[in-house]
Order: sequence, then C-alpha cells, then structure tokens
Amino acid sequence: MELNIRTYPDPILREKSRPITVFNEGVKKIATSMRNFIQRLNGIGLAAPQIGVSERIILADAGQKPIFIVNPEIVETKAEETFEEGCLSIPGTFIQIIRPSAITIKGYDLEGKEIQFKAKDLLARVIQHEVDHLDGRLIIDFLPKDELLRFHLEYNPNLPAYQVRERK
Ligand SMILES: [Zn+2]
Repeated sequence: MELNIRTYPDPILREKSRPITVFNEGVKKIATSMRNFIQRLNGIGLAAPQIGVSERIILADAGQKPIFIVNPEIVETKAEETFEEGCLSIPGTFIQIIRPSAITIKGYDLEGKEIQFKAKDLLARVIQHEVDHLDGRLIIDFLPKDELLRFHLEYNPNLPAYQVRERK
C-alpha cells in the first residue's frame, strides 16, 4: 500500500467508489492501512479513496472510539448547522459548510455485520464528509461559483496556503 495520501486534483477523489461485497482479508488490510494513515496524519475522518482504494469504507474518529463503516448509508437527517470543514486531501483549505447536525447511519462493520446508529455534532459531520468522498464529492463542491473560481486560480497543492474566506 502506498504511503502518500491522495490529494486534489487526483482523479480517484472524483470516482464513485465500489460497494464491498465480500468481507475478506482484503477489507481488513484496507482498514489497517486507513487506521495507520489517520493516526499519522492526526485526522478525524478518512475515506478509502483518499488512500488510493476506490471502495466504500470510511473511518470516523470523532467520538469515543474510531468507527469503521462499510457501505455506509445515511438514512435519516435532522436539523442543520454551519461548520468549518477541512480535508486531508485538500490541505490548507477550510470551508464553511451547512449540513444536518444529526443523522442515522447504517452499513456494515469490518466483519460484515449490519450496523445502524445515530450520530450528532462533530461525528455526524465527519461521517457525512466521508460518505461524500465515496461519491466523489469534495468540500470545494459546496463553494459558490465565484469562490470556486478563486479556488481554482489560487490553489496550489505544493503550497497549501489557500484559505477560503468566510461567506458573507
Ligand atoms: Zn476529506
């Protein structure tokens, strides 16, 4: 497994990831790699495409313990809040994004057992961000057109100093 996290504009970040159909050693290997990445990078969430694997596995580490969700599906959302999000794949970029603040999520654990639970606040935020990754959606897609234009003009992956100004 490669050692570098995939960063924008790597095309894998725009792919729709494949669902996991067999829960084998391969799935556990991806999970181990994701755990290593998130620890090394001090992240609170990671999706498999970010480590170069176009499969539907996410890791959220914003609650009491890290949670892997395979083939995650958000089945219910409640309320809304604005919060600043960053992304390990778009270093230095922070964007104010409106999302539901409480969700019900279902999917599978690494053994293939069905799971369903409710999440709110930061954990709900992280899960939604990571599920977006599986569909090739990134935080910059939430920008209004003029800000997106500015992003494309100013963003330099080798110089991650771009900051999106707060929306008025
Ligand atoms: Zn991200």
